[in-house]
Amino acid sequence: MPQIIFTCPVTGDDVPSGIETERASLDQMAPEEITLVCPHCGRPHTWQINQGRLEDAFPEAR
Ligand SMILES: [Zn+2]
Repeated sequence: MPQIIFTCPVTGDDVPSGIETERASLDQMAPEEITLVCPHCGRPHTWQINQGRLEDAFPEAR
């Protein structure tokens, strides 16, 4: 399954969450927050689940 990708607000790079889900599951997820330590800038970031995208999906397709 594809994993959810977030965007680092500092560098703009993709941050893989390690959470794998299906598109339907992503759409149905509760608006939880997730905090990850960013591999790009080394700081923790908090995102809403619904700010993520699937790694095999193009942003413009949403
Ligand atoms: Zn970052």
